[in-house]
Order: sequence, then C-alpha cells, then structure tokens
Amino acid sequence: MIYLDHAAATPVDLKVLEAMKPYFGVEFFNPSAAYLPAKKVAGEYEAAKGVIAHAIGAKASDLVITAGATEANNLAFTCISLDGSCRPFSSPTSQSSAGGPLHGRHPSMLYLETEHDSVRRTAESYGGEAIRVLPTGLIDLDDLKSKITDETEMISVSLANNELGAIQPLAEIAEIIRGVKFERLKRGVKRQLLLHSDASQALNLLDINVARLGVDLLTLNAAKVYGPKGVGALYVAHGVKLKPLVAGGGQENGLRSGTENVPGVIGFAKAVELAKEHLNGNRKKYAACRKILLSVLKDYELINKKHCLDSFVVVCFRGLDAERLIYLLEDKEIYVSTGAACAASKGVKSHVLKAIGLSDEEIAGSLRLTLGETNDEEQIREAARAINEVVISERERLKNA
Ligand code: PLP
Repeated sequence: MIYLDHAAATPVDLKVLEAMKPYFGVEFFNPSAAYLPAKKVAGEYEAAKGVIAHAIGAKASDLVITAGATEANNLAFTCISLDGSCRPFSSPTSQSSAGGPLHGRHPSMLYLETEHDSVRRTAESYGGEAIRVLPTGLIDLDDLKSKITDETEMISVSLANNELGAIQPLAEIAEIIRGVKFERLKRGVKRQLLLHSDASQALNLLDINVARLGVDLLTLNAAKVYGPKGVGALYVAHGVKLKPLVAGGGQENGLRSGTENVPGVIGFAKAVELAKEHLNGNRKKYAACRKILLSVLKDYELINKKHCLDSFVVVCFRGLDAERLIYLLEDKEIYVSTGAACAASKGVKSHVLKAIGLSDEEIAGSLRLTLGETNDEEQIREAARAINEVVISERERLKNA
C-alpha cells in the first residue's frame, strides 16, 4: 500500500513500541503507590515528561498529560474566567457556526476560523469569535487586531493547520498580544490575555520552542508523531490558571485526575526523541517528495502554495468528486483524504477550504495528500501516476455520461 494520510494518523514507530512494552508488563505499577518498584515507575514517568517538555523548551512540571489533543485543547479553554455570560459545552447548533458576541457583550476569546473542530467547537461553546484567514490560509492579522477588546482573555491559533499545513506566524501574534497587554497596563485594565496554540501537526516538522513562539498554552499530540493514539499534552506557562475537566485522585497537579498512562507517556517521549533526531532529514525528504508529486501530477490546481508544512499537498481536480477519487485510489491500495478525518467520515464540507475562499466545486474536487515516514520517492511517483490514471478515467466517464 501507499499511505498518504499521515495528518490523520501515523503508525507507531517500532522503537516507540519497544520502549512502551515493559510498562504493560513487568513495570505495570501504579506510579502513585508507596513501594519502591512503583516509585521507580513514577520516576521514569516524570523523566519521560521531561523529554517531551525539553523538546519544546519547557520543564516536566509545565506539562499536563491528557488523553489526546482534543482533551488538551478543551483543558486549555478553562483558562477563561467565566462570569455566567457564556455557557461552556452548549450545543454547537445553539449559535452561529462563525461564533460571535453573546448577549451584546464582547466575546472573551478569539480563535482562527480554520481551527480543528476540537478547538472550534470548544471556542463556539465559550461564545468565541472567529478570526478570518487570508486566501493563503494564514491569519488575517488586521482582523485579529480589530477584534481584540478589553474583554479578550484568550486567543487560539494553531501552529500548523491540519488540512492545509499552513504555518501561522505565532511570534508575530505574540508580539501583537504583548503590545495590547502593555497598553492595557497603562490604562489599568487587569484582564489576562493568553495565547494558545494547537501544535498537533507540527511537533515532528517544526523546531518548536514555547518562549520563541510566545505561547502560554500549547497542545501536543503523540498520535501524529509516530507515538500512541489517545496521548497528548498541554504545556501551561507558569502562572496560568486552569480548571480540571474531571475530578478524581489529583494526578497531573490536580489538572488531570486518573491513573497515569505510563506506557503512553513513555512511548510519547520516545516518539518525540525520534522526531527531533529526524527533523531536518525528514523536512528535506518531504520537500523533495512534494516537488516530485507536483511535477508528476497532471491537470490540477495547487491549493497550499506556500507558508505550509512540506509534508502537506492539497490539490484540486476541478469538476471531479474527490470522494470518488479516494474510493478509486483505495482499489489500488493508495490511501488519501479530502481533509480532516473526523469531518471526512461524516461527509461534512471542509470549513478550512471554505474559509480560504474556495468554491463548492473546488472544495468537492480537492484531495489532501500528507507525506510521512512510510513514504519514499519511488512510492510518491507511483502514487502520482495512479492519481493521474484515476483522474483521466473519471474525466472520460463524465464526458461520456
Ligand atoms: N488538533 C489537530 C490540529 C489535529 O489534527 C487533531 C487530530 O486530527 C486533533 C487536534 C485531535 O487529536 P485527537 O483526536 O488525538 O484528540
């Protein structure tokens, strides 16, 4: 098979699996138990957190381990100090999908309109307002500036988008926030203004440092970096106050109760270590593969042209139905997607492609190909040729219909 959907899931690296194995067996102890073997496991769990934290320029104590990025994103939003004007977790249909002020008040949070649903839906339930993107998929900084008010407490912008791979200028956003905070200080406005970023797609493709990015909260996802599914982390800068989503035994500094997922975190740490080791090599490989893909493919429009992760290729075959292309390619054991796996499985049109101004016809004809460690250049040539064949046969079919 040729797998070109690494943004949806990555296979667990064999070295990661090996690192995890002992913690399902001989090292099974509950890290909170009082005896020595359990304390040893607790130490190894903390050390693994340290490895993950170090990769983003943070400390183990800055991380809250969660069951995936969805939970980390939800936890991040608890930094907003609700005063009864917004209802968290209200039905997404109870307000406009674009978000917006509730009851005439300014919303306390802003989010990029192209965010993953785990940010978008949560933001909507907090009454958040969407920030527009430009046709490149990058944040419209003027729109951001115009929407920050004295009531804004949090801004959520992903580091790299999961449908386009668009890399957002977080340091620039952080600079704008610093300016707003300075100005608020001068006027005696005490409200916090925090920057959250979902870096789920970027951890193995960009060199991430929380201080350089200027973020207060950062979401990580093991499942996208050849680690186990259902394991994530939220980086929380010193002094940022969150509220736990679940009550219980008080693990993770009281922010995420429940017995620690020791094998998951050990695997996450190994995956992060490998990601750092392969970062430059992989980037070069994906840039070369992207070039090959775009030179062999025929009769397409490239949607994500620049400022994006090298591993993301979004191409539109105008007039065709990308869903049909996916099924035809599946017959050749080539796996691609139309966008976010969770939206694709529900047959929902991509809000991301809509936000960058694509027409319904363009959205319907767009394929997302995401490269990864399972690919090599020969595979990419073969996949591109197979896509060409399928596209030609579909055009023929439509002509004769
Ligand atoms: N955020 C982004 C950008 C993603 O791509 C994904 C997964 O596709 C998530 C969050 C959710 O991750 P999980 O399903 O592991 O909770």
